[in-house]
Amino acid sequence: MSASARFRRVASGKADANVAGAGPAGSARQNSGAGGTVHPPADPNVRPKSWWATARSARPARAGGTLGYDCDVVVVGGGPAGAAAAARLAGAGFATVVVDRASFPRDKVCGDFVGPAALAELADLGVTGTAAFAATNTIGECALHLNGDRLGALAIPQVDGLPGYGRVIPRWHLDAWVLDAARHAGARVLGGQKVTAVARVPGAVTVGGHGAAGPWQLRARLLLGADGSNSVIARALRGTVPPRQDRIVAVRAYFDDVAGPAGQADVCLGSAAFPGYCWLFPCGGGRANVGVGMVVSTYPRTGRNLRALLLALIDQDALLRHRLRGARLRGKILGCPLTTYNPRLPLAGDRVMLLGDAAGLINPLNGEGIQYALHSARWAAGIAAGGLASGRLDAASLGAYEQRVHHHLRHDMAFSRFIVALIRNRHLNPVWLRALRVIAARASTDPDYAYRAGCVATGLAPATTALGPGMAAKTARQAMASPRNGAPRRHPARRGQPGHPTPDPSPSKTGGTGTHALTPREFADWAAGAGQALTELTTQLTRAKLVSVRGHVR
Ligand SMILES: Cc1cc2nc3c(=O)[nH]c(=O)nc-3n(C[C@H](O)[C@H](O)[C@H](O)COP(=O)(O)OP(=O)(O)OC[C@H]3O[C@@H](n4cnc5c(N)ncnc54)[C@H](O)[C@@H]3O)c2cc1C
Repeated sequence: MSASARFRRVASGKADANVAGAGPAGSARQNSGAGGTVHPPADPNVRPKSWWATARSARPARAGGTLGYDCDVVVVGGGPAGAAAAARLAGAGFATVVVDRASFPRDKVCGDFVGPAALAELADLGVTGTAAFAATNTIGECALHLNGDRLGALAIPQVDGLPGYGRVIPRWHLDAWVLDAARHAGARVLGGQKVTAVARVPGAVTVGGHGAAGPWQLRARLLLGADGSNSVIARALRGTVPPRQDRIVAVRAYFDDVAGPAGQADVCLGSAAFPGYCWLFPCGGGRANVGVGMVVSTYPRTGRNLRALLLALIDQDALLRHRLRGARLRGKILGCPLTTYNPRLPLAGDRVMLLGDAAGLINPLNGEGIQYALHSARWAAGIAAGGLASGRLDAASLGAYEQRVHHHLRHDMAFSRFIVALIRNRHLNPVWLRALRVIAARASTDPDYAYRAGCVATGLAPATTALGPGMAAKTARQAMASPRNGAPRRHPARRGQPGHPTPDPSPSKTGGTGTHALTPREFADWAAGAGQALTELTTQLTRAKLVSVRGHVR
């Protein structure tokens, strides 16, 4: 059976109020073919563009009915965001089709760390009750290392009834489990089908692509773009690719026979890669996910790639060398780009919403995205269900989703963006690394401070709550009271073991992580970026404060 024939069988009994002939003429006009525009982006660098204009001609393998739909919702992408949204919408009774270019189970380049907030979402989706899920490795604490010197370990904080631990779950398993939840809820999953074209037509959206059986086209009432960081749907909606400053590059590899505690994740920072960082996340059974990631604009211009940098760091960082001393590389070192959160870019348009990585819902500070993918799926499904029931699927109505995302994430992400905007300047690395030592030193003696730092690092509590003026004051006091904190603490450990500071690897050894002199233009760009991020943060903090004051007054 051809893919298109399978698509045709997913019929919807529901019709839109704004389908021509089935609702107000005004709505029909508003949603009719050429002439409409997407939700206008506020970013002057982003050109508004009719998103159907980017659609390539999709050759329908089989003609569709004039007013019929193949399904209520087509979800492009069956990763955590798409699968979770499909599970929720299918569970609510909407005919839902998930289309993915891959056939599941499939691999996905990731650090595999699933934090407490993501675990709570997975529990809500009914994914966590199996023996296989329970057997996945739990992480109770995360140790921080700087140039091989262990600064301390932060326990995964216990917040609002969420689990006080994370898990490391290879995506091969995790994504298949979430997609199974979507199937059990009644969604149809079509793997091996790459989407290449989207278009809005009167009263509907069409998605076209091709699989082994040839080209196909699908007509739906609503499109959810959950197709990851290179999203075709986001490009069509926004009419542009993400700005360079929003991009991160990262690589990861699996190692077997890894030494050290299975319940401890390690994050390694150092002059060689900062503001990027290396991680070692144990998967259990002696296996670990090891990788490195950094903001694209801070990547050194050396011609050496990130894979080479990861291998060099594994060779030179004392902690990594210690934990991987008898380990074997399993498979290849694989990389993937990431796009971080940019509040100026639209997340919804007429009959379309972007979720997870496609929406850029990545925390720029730690690269975490699974929890935001799952949150965005819940928020989008709620708004979509209302829109599908009422027939209001225009950009203004779906804009409620964008507001919900901004409401929940904007101030935390503003904080992360500000920090990243600052540390982008590698010439100031000694300053940032000293600040890190100050924070770690304070956290080692002050449990409340450690808890708050842990909340921010894991994205568990709003930065505005966790980081009050109290925390800032404590950090400043610590910095002034103990200038020695800026110096590495020495531990009686042998060279090559954790505790023994690694000498700063030279650029030549690490694949060229050295800095070049900033040109005046680059310096101006950095200062402007930091200023913009600070303005955004201040605005968000003020807004959050006003909301909380209003809440108290009511
Ligand atoms: C190296 C690295 C390490 C990371 N580490 C972590 C971590 O430890 N913890 C964490 O929380 N986050 C981490 N992230 C981020 C995390 O991987 C993402 O945030 C998460 O995968 C987002 O889920 P998603 O469903 O939005 O997208 P994805 O998981 O990327 O799923 C998108 C799906 O869309 C499909 N697709 C793409 N294009 C098309 C198309 N044209 N047609 C049809 N289907 C298509 C893909 O096949 C894929 O299945 C990491 C990312 C990287 C790159």
